[in-house]
Amino acid sequence: MLTLKNELEQMVFHLGGDLFGVASLDDVAREIAGEYGDTYQGLERAISVAVFFPKEVLNELAEGPTHTYLYYYDVINARLNDIALRISNLLQKKGFRTFPIPASQRVNESKLAGIFSHRLAASRAGLGWIGKSCCLVNPQVGPRLRLVTILTNAPLESDQPLEEGCCGSCTACQDACPPQAIKGQEFHLGDPLSLRLDAQACHDYLANVRHSFGKRVCGRCLAACPWGK
Ligand code: SF4
Ligand code: SF4
Repeated sequence: MLTLKNELEQMVFHLGGDLFGVASLDDVAREIAGEYGDTYQGLERAISVAVFFPKEVLNELAEGPTHTYLYYYDVINARLNDIALRISNLLQKKGFRTFPIPASQRVNESKLAGIFSHRLAASRAGLGWIGKSCCLVNPQVGPRLRLVTILTNAPLESDQPLEEGCCGSCTACQDACPPQAIKGQEFHLGDPLSLRLDAQACHDYLANVRHSFGKRVCGRCLAACPWGK
């Protein structure tokens, strides 16, 4: 018999998702409460969905920003948000609480982070590990993907996280970063982001790119990653 998790997984693949996983947030409840207060209290599962970028399109960013990348960025976000809303509404109809986190949404201009970490959810769901670039790295496509998350209290069986620290001695993203925002540190749960990334330096660099290119786009760190290249 099809479990609820199987039903959701089939739905995601039918709608054009490339990866699906379920994270238990029990182990990271303290970190989540520390970052977001009690906003997501009681939502102890995170459904994580990824859609892949065409690799060739993303790899072009090694040479500078492109409009092709921006086009697919919007297409992929729209698909992810549609999938998240459909899953959320299905679970809601079954009587569960859900909170779909949009694929790309900041709290505000002064707070650079989003309203929930898709990368944390995806790494706990076994979709990859958080690399030195602070992006999720998947063994199949590296960081050439985008993510969406649906928080829920549905009692879904959780997947196992991958091993942390799979970047090893690689420094490709750090070397490729124009403002040297990436500090070359491995991700460890509980460490502040500032140990690994100068988010302001990245933000300022993107603001400069907007002056010359018209849009905030870089992604050299993604294009440089050897995983999945
Ligand atoms: S997006 Fe660009 S500036 Fe920001 S961390 Fe990556 S390479 Fe550096
Ligand atoms: S470029 Fe290297 S160090 Fe950076 S995320 Fe990819 S594997 Fe890790």
